[in-house]
Amino acid sequence: MVIERKNMTIALCINCGKMKFGALLPCQECGCGSTGNSELDIAFTDHFLSEETLQGFGKVIQCLRKNTKDESVAFGAFIKHVSENYPAIILSETPRQYRTAVSALLEHTNLPEVMIVDSPRIGAGIDTSPEEKYTSRVRHYPIQCEFCGHVQSFAIWSQINGSFDAWINEMIVSGRLFMNKCRRCRYQQVVPYHTLYMNIEKPFAVWLRMPESRNEFKICVPSYDYFSELRTDFIFRAVSSPSELAEKIKIFLDGYDDILIEFIKTCLCFQRGIDLVQPLYYVKTTRKIFSGKSMTFMLLDPSGEYEIRYPFTSQKSKLAHIMKMIQPILCKLTTDWHTIDRDFVMQMLQNLGIITRLDI
Ligand SMILES: [Zn+2]
Ligand SMILES: [Zn+2]
Repeated sequence: MVIERKNMTIALCINCGKMKFGALLPCQECGCGSTGNSELDIAFTDHFLSEETLQGFGKVIQCLRKNTKDESVAFGAFIKHVSENYPAIILSETPRQYRTAVSALLEHTNLPEVMIVDSPRIGAGIDTSPEEKYTSRVRHYPIQCEFCGHVQSFAIWSQINGSFDAWINEMIVSGRLFMNKCRRCRYQQVVPYHTLYMNIEKPFAVWLRMPESRNEFKICVPSYDYFSELRTDFIFRAVSSPSELAEKIKIFLDGYDDILIEFIKTCLCFQRGIDLVQPLYYVKTTRKIFSGKSMTFMLLDPSGEYEIRYPFTSQKSKLAHIMKMIQPILCKLTTDWHTIDRDFVMQMLQNLGIITRLDI
């Protein structure tokens, strides 16, 4: 039988590891069709990955199948391996009943390294429609371990839509999105790159530009009208580290103004004798019936991490008064990529002549 390959989707059969045509069609080799999860079926096709990369993952599946007779355990182990090492492709939890068997299988199976080459189809239709324009964009690059020299694929996200792909927020907050963990020696290193993060519901956009980024991992300054098709009230922020990006996401998703948060951080520094440039991040808000909202901040010090609590509800009226005073300055902040930090707050307070008393 001659199979006409033109325009057909080439897919990986996640059951047997052989190539097949059509993500949802039965495998010509083992007869297995869709996994029941169409997102997973489509992730392992030439829409996202090159044919040689699909074949590389096929070898991983065959290796797992050789070491167990249980198809479900082999499948679970494959998904866990991909989720842990290539989370940009698929990120999924192992069902509870297979966890022990899956971990045991992965522990005693030496899996081949897959160097990811993205599909040439990616990016072909970029910017042609609003849906394409605002979707998350990822590409894989080889990264060398600084400790042992091992080279493996790492996902670089040039654009992140935190409203569509909410799971990425968690990856940013945990620091995982920027961390390369060597599969040979387990050494972890931060891979610096630029990214444009957007959240359409809030709405805010954060441009992360890590200073050490390689030229190919940099993005151009996004213009403010980039979002004008979506809505006109975007807040634009610029940050220079993954921790700052994570903090902005937490602040805005918790419904705060980041200038207010930076103002509170400045006050905490004055009250507790903390240097204004020492890393201090907003972590979370907790609510109690009688005392109301309390904020938790994390102070990073060479000797360790320290939590600082701030009683938000009891200071709310004083904070509202300060925010009212700075409102005229805030109105001018709408259209630029502003760096809102304690330095910004200090300059703002000096301009307003209210630097003398920071006792709230
Ligand atoms: Zn098959
Ligand atoms: Zn290494």
